[in-house]
Amino acid sequence: MPGRILVVDDVATNRLILKAKLAAAYYDVLEADCGQAAFDAALAEQPDVILLDINMPDMDGYTVCEMLKSCPETSHIPVVMITVHSAPKERIRGLSVGADDFLVKPINDMALFARVRNLLRVKMVFDELKLRDSTSKELGLTGFLETFEEAEANRSTVMLAPAAGAQGEAWKKEISKMLQVDVIGTCSEREALNMARFEQPDAIIVHQRLMEDGDSLRLISALRARSETRQAVMIYVVSDGSIETAATALDLGTSDYVMEPFEPEELIIRLRTQLRRKREFERLRSNVRDGLKMAVIDPLTGLYNRRYATQHMQKIVERADNIQKEFAVMMMDLDRFKRINDTEGHDAGDMVLKEFSHRIQENVRGVDLVARMGGEEFLVVMPDAGSMVAKHVSERLRRAIESKPFITKSGTELHITVSIGVAIGQPDGGDPADLIKCADMALYQSKSSGRNLVSFHQAA
Ligand code: GH3
Ligand code: MG
Ligand code: MG
Repeated sequence: MPGRILVVDDVATNRLILKAKLAAAYYDVLEADCGQAAFDAALAEQPDVILLDINMPDMDGYTVCEMLKSCPETSHIPVVMITVHSAPKERIRGLSVGADDFLVKPINDMALFARVRNLLRVKMVFDELKLRDSTSKELGLTGFLETFEEAEANRSTVMLAPAAGAQGEAWKKEISKMLQVDVIGTCSEREALNMARFEQPDAIIVHQRLMEDGDSLRLISALRARSETRQAVMIYVVSDGSIETAATALDLGTSDYVMEPFEPEELIIRLRTQLRRKREFERLRSNVRDGLKMAVIDPLTGLYNRRYATQHMQKIVERADNIQKEFAVMMMDLDRFKRINDTEGHDAGDMVLKEFSHRIQENVRGVDLVARMGGEEFLVVMPDAGSMVAKHVSERLRRAIESKPFITKSGTELHITVSIGVAIGQPDGGDPADLIKCADMALYQSKSSGRNLVSFHQAA
């Protein structure tokens, strides 16, 4: 996994040592010798990870980290702080300003590489989501803020494994006191897997020592592999003081770890950071999803648009061929619709289009495709429907529009009619575009014969 790493240290020898290690592992290394240079390089070069020395003459690492985290162009870049001694107070301070982790000099290679791999993985997912999000935005498919707010409103669930004993109870209390989350707990490996599947927690804290001879590292990789918990935050509590254990946990997919003994505050801050990151990921994912939805849905009526309809018709054609059944294609166009806009205003016109769409949807089956093809032109495709059914349904649709006036906001009754053209698709895998053309010709027939009519295309 390639990646660009910015090494920040005021001592040239320190930079050199780190650079040699990282370059040997094929990372692309950038250097900065002071806080300001670090910030400038981060901004200009957009590295994937920043290794940041705490003690520097111009400004300390905390200040640099704060600057990086408060700038929108650099806030997403993970920061690992490098310290001489990592007292709990220092760690808490660094984590509070947004650092992802600490490494103590002299740096243990295994800890360094496991952490760098972990951060690069997270950043890659983030970058990809960001990219898709910006593509959606460029295409004019902007995401909905509501989705984010809804996600924010949902309380997170944190699962503890194990939660037994005094320590589990203490964590439980501390976490629910400090964070607005629900805390659930379990003891054994098997129970943890079951509970995670049903509760789908947002975060899981796994202690190295599980009850009943469970294997906590095996639990981590199992949770990561399952679809229900793939996106969950996982924090591993290392009890044997071994950096190798922590490195293994990171490589197996845990998001972060803490070493016992630790201040509860450290666990809380790490948990909060990870939950915040998860929220951001969710927001981006739902933006992308909404963006994709917007690409196929007409915003005014909520119906599928032309792009989706032509794509989906191909599937209907193939299926008709498979099951050897005819299907019906109807093109509809509102009659004298321009006049509504001209006399009642554009808003009234919009209301008519919405109400029209609603009435059509109420009068077809769930399996039928209803799409807005443009302006006041609509398409209905009915799988498994021959000319008898098509005749019946198209008449019903025509009447559903004619029979009841459309009422404007100001109370005016509008009498609307629709012209319909129908073509019957044969189970021969024909071209959808040709069928639409046939239905269009039949529609033209309805218009020229006086409107408010259904016409069938006569196969040659
Ligand atoms: P015909 O019976 O021959 O179909 O006559 P028509 O007036 O319905 O047809 P024409 O194609 O001349 O006019 C269609 C009108 O539909 C013109 C356009 O302003 C209006 N229109 C298209 N899209 C929208 C929309 O999203 N909202 C509103 N309010 N009007 C729209
Ligand atoms: Mg029209
Ligand atoms: Mg028209």
